[in-house]
Amino acid sequence: MSAEPQKAELLIRHGYVITMDDAATIHEHGAVAIGAKGRILAVGDDADISARYSAARTIDAKGAPVHPGFVECHLHASFHLYRGALPDHLVESDAFDTFEGHFYNNVTDEDEYLSVLLACMEMVRNGTTCFMEAGTVLTPEMAARAAKEVGVRAVVGDAFIWDQPQGFAQGKTDDHQEGCATCAAQARLHTELVRAPKTHAEALASMGTQLTRNADPDALVTGHVAVLGLGTASEELMMEAKACADAANVTLNIHQSYSPADTAADRQRFGKDPLVHLFETGFLDRNVTFGHANHLTDAECDVLLDRGTSIAWAPAASMMWGHGSSLHGRHAELWRRGASIALGSDSPNWSNDFDLWRQANLAVMAARDVHMDRTYLIAEDGIYMATRGGARAVGLEDRVGSLEPGKRADIVIHTLDRPEMVPTTNMIRNLFYASRAKSVHTVIIDGRVILEEGRFTALDERAIYAEVCKASAALLARMGHRLEANAVPRIARTR
Ligand SMILES: [Zn+2]
Repeated sequence: MSAEPQKAELLIRHGYVITMDDAATIHEHGAVAIGAKGRILAVGDDADISARYSAARTIDAKGAPVHPGFVECHLHASFHLYRGALPDHLVESDAFDTFEGHFYNNVTDEDEYLSVLLACMEMVRNGTTCFMEAGTVLTPEMAARAAKEVGVRAVVGDAFIWDQPQGFAQGKTDDHQEGCATCAAQARLHTELVRAPKTHAEALASMGTQLTRNADPDALVTGHVAVLGLGTASEELMMEAKACADAANVTLNIHQSYSPADTAADRQRFGKDPLVHLFETGFLDRNVTFGHANHLTDAECDVLLDRGTSIAWAPAASMMWGHGSSLHGRHAELWRRGASIALGSDSPNWSNDFDLWRQANLAVMAARDVHMDRTYLIAEDGIYMATRGGARAVGLEDRVGSLEPGKRADIVIHTLDRPEMVPTTNMIRNLFYASRAKSVHTVIIDGRVILEEGRFTALDERAIYAEVCKASAALLARMGHRLEANAVPRIARTR
């Protein structure tokens, strides 16, 4: 005699379910049962799950891939109103100059809210269900408000935790000599960031304010400790941030070894390889996630592996500005040696798109090309970095990153109704090389259907896009931003 089916809130049936559990289980004819509070009740073969559970609502995946939502680990969510405003011929020091000073002294809370709203919509549309903000939204409450409105899981930190903002400019010493006017202007701008902390005491006063969100175990928006890094934090502040993250059992997220210049500046101030020094002081740890980490020595790779520290690899950001992370980065090698590697999109002018499928694909492709080895990284590696790797790097590995009973139901369902998804010989290769985010169809976060058949269920997309354009034009005008004509392609000039 068969037992009465148990009650579920939602059933996803007839999916090619990529669980990303420890055994990398795939249910080719799979189903997922979702219960109260957005928890996954069961994952398995469709016949079994559909016999065991009955639900008020069923979504038919029609044979398409179903996978855990991607986790974005390095993202500046407040620059979306400024996306695309930096012409391709701009050098990076001038770019920082523009956006740091002019942008931050003109952006309003409402601008930040709209920016993060757009960022969240873009991420969900591309199959990302959780993101960790890099600590540069001046009013983190705006990031939280936008994330909740879209229904995306967010891990937010306090803005500009630094106590020596002028340290940022010191990272430019490779290209600029002492007394350089650009460096001086940059240092001034950083200290003139009106709403950012100026002193150690001010940094400490604003550090950790987002951690109160963690009191609610079901909170969609949680807090972590963000430090800007790249020479802008004293060692004292870094250790205080580490103690704060340890006490709260959260991730400490900091930029590290982004360009050759800031890496050299850190090597100079620490008197040795930066990560080796941070290992010796006890900063390097399992709950630390470095954004970028493009330039590491052999010794630094060893200590990173020893401590289990995560890296949010942002391949497009490096490619966009020519920092050489594909050529010189150790991410792929570290991954093969067992390091915790996640992925990040950085910002709307440092990759310009918040699509982790693209980041994963770029990471895998670049590694193969540089190592001249097709098998150096495979599609499955990229998907792992975007799911389990990301969950660990943001400190939510017990909640997200895989489809397993007890975890939060953050789930992406694709469609086979796209040319890139047929023939269905191999779903993983179709997804990773052909369709990527293009086939994202329905997105569920915390058990709620946020995106259904490509449309947001509770947002007026067109109205939001119109508002974003209006606010962006107003912001650029306040910044005195001069929109330059697009450059003529070099080929046209040589003819
Ligand atoms: Zn960053």
